[in-house]
Amino acid sequence: MATQTNDEKTIRGCCPMDCPDTCSWIVTVKDGRAVKLRGDPDHPVTRGSLCAKMNGYIEYTRLPGRLMWPLRRSGRKGAGQFERISWDEALDEIAARFQRIIVEHGAEAIWPFYGAGSYGMLQGIFGAGRRLWHALGTSQHVVNICTIAGCVATEYTLGDRRVGMDPETFQDSKLIILWGTNTLTTNLHLWRFVQMAKEKGAYVVVIDPMKTRTAEQVDEHIPILPGTDAALALGLMNVVVSLGAEDKEFIEAHTLGWPDFKKRILDYTPERVSEITEIPVEVIVALGTRLANSRPTGIKLLMGMQRHGGGGMAVRTISCIPGVTGDWRYAGGGVSYDTRGFFRGDWNALWRPDLLPSKARTLNMTQLGEGLLELDDPPVQGLFIYAANPVASDPHQRKVRQGLERDDLFTVVFDHFQTDTANYADIILPCTMQLEHADLHTTFGHIYVSWNEPAVAPPGECRSTSDVFRDLARRMGLTEPCLYDSDEDMARQVLNSGHPTLAGITLEKLKADGWARPNYPSPFVPFADGFMTPSGKLEFYSERMANDGLEPLAGYTPSYEVSQKDTALARKYPLALLSVCRHYGVNSIFPNSEPHARRQGPAVLQIHPNDASSRNLRHGGTARVFNDRGDFLVQIQVTDKVKPGIVWTVKSRWPMLEPGNSNPNATIDDRTSDMGSGAVYNDNRVEVAAI
Ligand code: SF4
Repeated sequence: MATQTNDEKTIRGCCPMDCPDTCSWIVTVKDGRAVKLRGDPDHPVTRGSLCAKMNGYIEYTRLPGRLMWPLRRSGRKGAGQFERISWDEALDEIAARFQRIIVEHGAEAIWPFYGAGSYGMLQGIFGAGRRLWHALGTSQHVVNICTIAGCVATEYTLGDRRVGMDPETFQDSKLIILWGTNTLTTNLHLWRFVQMAKEKGAYVVVIDPMKTRTAEQVDEHIPILPGTDAALALGLMNVVVSLGAEDKEFIEAHTLGWPDFKKRILDYTPERVSEITEIPVEVIVALGTRLANSRPTGIKLLMGMQRHGGGGMAVRTISCIPGVTGDWRYAGGGVSYDTRGFFRGDWNALWRPDLLPSKARTLNMTQLGEGLLELDDPPVQGLFIYAANPVASDPHQRKVRQGLERDDLFTVVFDHFQTDTANYADIILPCTMQLEHADLHTTFGHIYVSWNEPAVAPPGECRSTSDVFRDLARRMGLTEPCLYDSDEDMARQVLNSGHPTLAGITLEKLKADGWARPNYPSPFVPFADGFMTPSGKLEFYSERMANDGLEPLAGYTPSYEVSQKDTALARKYPLALLSVCRHYGVNSIFPNSEPHARRQGPAVLQIHPNDASSRNLRHGGTARVFNDRGDFLVQIQVTDKVKPGIVWTVKSRWPMLEPGNSNPNATIDDRTSDMGSGAVYNDNRVEVAAI
């Protein structure tokens, strides 16, 4: 709701970034211009603070180079030459080209391609576009680049893709394990709950191959070989069971498959796990003993640790730990990966899958290059990209560029800036940012739902995605009434699901308060009395996995490349490369912002002194990171904060702004993970050479 004084008003909204915190904010607007942005002090998670990425957001919305009007390509694809056109010209051309593609090749020849971008339920990944694509019968885009392996694992294990421990209850944990997550960079507002627990005596551990800024702040950092987390989970449970500390009553009442799972746990002795994970036996035994004796234990996971060949199984097996210790029964106990499943809105009312004229093929976001180069029957002829910058973010960059270069491909890019991807477009459309459009948001790091009220008018000729999808539907002659619903109508349709957790949470309430907590008890302990699986139990053994051709018993699945030892690949490319989040950016957002770029600094590669000296790499020198798929340039940072054999750099910087016109995705394969066809960004072997 807007609050007005004589010359200025405040408007409630929220941060749209692909971040678990989804902070609520208050914008101050004076004379039609946003002049101040601050976190909502009343939000139970945000508590008045935004992070370093977003503190300059108002200035970011006014960056020179922001797209202000539609453009048509005037040079070769990739060259970045465009000329200004009107919206009518742009949308008429898109409608005509798409109609011709549908007549000549069928609607499946159109690929609507979208990611998280900086949008919520109406404007982006879950939004209004889906009902348009369904009505047209285009190929169905599968968003599997980020969380999917862990989500599918959670579904098999707990019964729903996006459920787990309520992160607010970490304040009650006695032992907190931040497992493969750099909380202070990627999940800042969880830190307050960690601190609250610490003040009550909790012990906090970080398990991470790198000594991150979070690892430097906790009681214990345990470096681990990437991709071996499931083996460590089994080793920790081995210690718990060896001490007789498993919760027999919980196991009996609330789990399925214990006898077989117990046998598997007993196979993973601390000695065997030490060989796999490169963690000393005594460290495994000490943490296992602490786990056996600390009720409740809360484990926080995020996405990086499941981006490898065995990533789904890693999240599944770690999610089994509280089933063995009984922690799922306590506030402050359990595993928290993704919380979006607790929002029980009516997704089908938003997406309208019933509009699909017939079954349409699905296309993987993870494999854009391959899809563009190799699909036939029909080949992809039309590509509509929004909320995504795949040249910067998709694996196997060379293939992505080759696919986008195809002369017979008609590509539309709808974005805020002329990105690397936009340079391959036939038509570029200028999109609104969060201060300029309405949106509804859930999040994956807490359970609140938020409304973003537009605060200012769009600059130039920028238009929102939902507005443009309505216009495009009209120009393509579609008559389905829902394609013309307003943003607020769509928000009401989602909220009006009839689910008791959303009773009383209306659009009007959200507009007044900015956010609302669905009707869950506080503290919220979702699995104290049972799970959402077909058996109603936590499934150590999953019949559904067996039916899907997967290993049904929780365990350890090695990664594809990183787990290799003494193979030809491991000898040729001895270093495991991790591509991680930037402190001053989210995915591919902000590298073009000078203040963000200055604070982030150049692309560095952290490497252990032994690995640096054996390659004659000098601290501060430039080096080439490469494998058979491609290469990128970095500045070398020699440090013992990373284990020997492992190097890391940040992901998704804009290739056009890098000295080698590429980023780590040039070296990353587009093969997919064990569950959900997820991307395997952290399953990558490389070599490094000074230049
Ligand atoms: S990026 Fe995340 S932590 Fe930062 S303001 Fe947005 S939601 Fe909050």
